Amino acid sequence: MLNYKSKDIKTYDINISGIVQGVGFRPFISRLAHKYKLKGNVSNTTEGVTVKINSSDIGIVNKFISDIKNLKPPAAVIEELNIKEADLKNYKSFKIVKSKETEEKFQLVSPDIATCRLCQKDINNKKDLRRYYYPFTNCTSCGPRFTIIKKMPYDRPNTTMKNFKMCSDCMEEYEDTGNRRFHAQPNACRKCGPELFLTDKNGKMADLKNPIISASELLNDNKIIAIKSLGGFQIACSALSDKTVSILRKRKNRPVKPFAVMFKNIHSIKKYYHIGTLEAESLMSSRAPIVLVRKKTENYPLSRQVSMYNGYEGVMLPYTPIHHLLFNNVDVPLIMTSGNLSEEPIASENNEALGRLRNICDYFLMHNRDIYSRYDDSVIRIFNGKEMMIRRARGYAPYPVKLDRDTGKKVIFSAGAHNKNNFCFLVKNYAIVSQHIGDLDDPESIKFYNSAFRHYGKLFNIESIDTAACDKHPLYASTRFTKSIKIVSKNIKVQHHKAHIASVIAENKVSDRIIGFAWDGTGYGDDGKIWGSEIFIVNRDLNFKRAGHLLEKPLPGGEITIKKPYRMAVCYLYNLWKENNVTHDGDSNFPQFLYKYFPFYKKIISTAEIDIITRQIGTGFNSPVTTSMGRLFDAVSSVLNYTHISSYEGEAAVRLEMAAGQKNKSRYKIKITGSYNSSNYIIDDYYIFSQIIDDITGNIPHDIISSKFHLTLAYIILEISRRIRENSRIDRIALSGGVFQNNYLMNNCFSLLKKNNFKVYSNFKVPVNDGGISLGQAYIAARKLRL
Ligand code: ZN
Ligand code: ZN
Ligand code: FE
Repeated sequence: MLNYKSKDIKTYDINISGIVQGVGFRPFISRLAHKYKLKGNVSNTTEGVTVKINSSDIGIVNKFISDIKNLKPPAAVIEELNIKEADLKNYKSFKIVKSKETEEKFQLVSPDIATCRLCQKDINNKKDLRRYYYPFTNCTSCGPRFTIIKKMPYDRPNTTMKNFKMCSDCMEEYEDTGNRRFHAQPNACRKCGPELFLTDKNGKMADLKNPIISASELLNDNKIIAIKSLGGFQIACSALSDKTVSILRKRKNRPVKPFAVMFKNIHSIKKYYHIGTLEAESLMSSRAPIVLVRKKTENYPLSRQVSMYNGYEGVMLPYTPIHHLLFNNVDVPLIMTSGNLSEEPIASENNEALGRLRNICDYFLMHNRDIYSRYDDSVIRIFNGKEMMIRRARGYAPYPVKLDRDTGKKVIFSAGAHNKNNFCFLVKNYAIVSQHIGDLDDPESIKFYNSAFRHYGKLFNIESIDTAACDKHPLYASTRFTKSIKIVSKNIKVQHHKAHIASVIAENKVSDRIIGFAWDGTGYGDDGKIWGSEIFIVNRDLNFKRAGHLLEKPLPGGEITIKKPYRMAVCYLYNLWKENNVTHDGDSNFPQFLYKYFPFYKKIISTAEIDIITRQIGTGFNSPVTTSMGRLFDAVSSVLNYTHISSYEGEAAVRLEMAAGQKNKSRYKIKITGSYNSSNYIIDDYYIFSQIIDDITGNIPHDIISSKFHLTLAYIILEISRRIRENSRIDRIALSGGVFQNNYLMNNCFSLLKKNNFKVYSNFKVPVNDGGISLGQAYIAARKLRL
């Protein structure tokens, strides 16, 4: 801010960067200038917006600036605002002038924005003939952005709205600086814009006239409908009907993973869930994400099939006119889940959807506005007073994460992980993390990855990639991808768990030494073993020292055991049986011991399979060595007879978390060997497991056992942190990796560590799961280049 007084007229240049185009920024500036009687102009540039004004009163200029910051349009984000005195110019009035090309060609792209209140009014206003019930209504404060942009600058011919010619009424709005639709690129109305229609599952037209009304009737009649939404197809059906939801589960091949539910308004959400102010704020924001909230136990009307045993449900509010209009006619909450089969990418084209979803959906509510970028619904939860990302896409990506260092002219690309993949471009001090891509197992996902990569290159004007970073795992599709692209200087391989911790350091701008706990399912270790419970000491130069982990043990049969937790339970039990040399009456052979103490395994595992597993453990054949924390959760979940086969990643751990009783305060005894100097703290998880077995045979209730297990892990983190602090005075802790998606564990870790005067960090802006890996990889690469 300028703070001197002068009577002379001066000209000021104000440069503003951030999301300031296509969000009603220039008319807003123009109105403000009139308010303060300022003369000059405003224009879009290739890097943002430039305002030029004349004034002799610095007080007015300062007020103008603070109004820009405080009263900006809801969808605008100001990253930087610089004011400087310029050569004196004589302006006669205040004008919006044509866009200018400037030297800098990098500009942020706006995420899609939920339908604003005024547009909601328009579609419900019977007198508005052009927009009443028109499902593609939008304005400068709302509507599609990222999903329809083919290239920059963000002008209509560069979007999928190109094929629709604005009618004279729309054009008038578009050109009127006083109108809320001034320069709203997707502006459209019933006369000129895209059209909605309803077909049956064979693509046969069912309703062209009143598709919303027909679709609502079908939903009320418990049918399953595919809806073409902002970033792809969603599958909708009543969340009240057990029968319908279980049919959907069967057809979608999704036995237990919870479905997201859309409610008509915030009041109905408040009725059935525990909602705080922050949850409500996020739900009603222009990002309108899915928010994980806790179900109320009484008067809960939804089908149990929606989330099964899960205590949390993902809820959201309508975010497109189509949703709002459906809820005018549908009285029940609607399941609103991604239009895909398990982990495939979300379907985005009409024919593609008809092909892929015809065995799931009865009807298709579609339209002729193309989706250029697939864009899943984002999922967040509120933790520690902030939004914590679980899946980052609609409303968030491709908005960047700002870093504490600038890469200058060099661009770094990081390829991300294999599951829950996204990638990242590091440009200047912006980490542009792509939207959620998914698991890179099938050709569809890889196609999506490739096209998103090319698209980001164009959008952000990336001419060459100086350095690429990828996971150490040689078989990750993302790792292989970096070999297929042109890189100027080098390709850096980053160990998975180091990337997890680096992502925490990057987004929190931590510049001090830190202790990192990277706990997850699997990651390729520096020694070729499968890591997953890693403890690191990280110095200020971002050098990682591995300081500890769980005991090494075989993963019998490799990959297959990740999907079948009972195999891991057998692995732990076999070790216990062998170690203790159990010779209870008749227990001289392991299968007898197993079936006697855990009779439910008779139905789960045959003696032949037990034989194979124990032989694999003995010989090490096809059984990589692992220190995975995820596998310990699997084993405990199975031995408590919760989850024996995981239908989605982390299922066994989620089931175990949900079982944890809230009242227990006790925990298991722990054994940690090693010292600070040897930097090798080994956590004896067999010891914990054997106490769990004692509790089971001692008939301790399972909710207590689960709780004790979680509290034990939180306490282990505290204990190791204390030992390291005693020797090094490091008091910062980073928690990352899929295991920390566990709310119960996370809550206990945060409170325990804080109580003991540690500063605790984790992932909020990117997911704590493998969706955070690309940021960590990019940050490590940047630091390796000594930026
Ligand atoms: Zn609007
Ligand atoms: Zn029109
Ligand atoms: Fe991971």
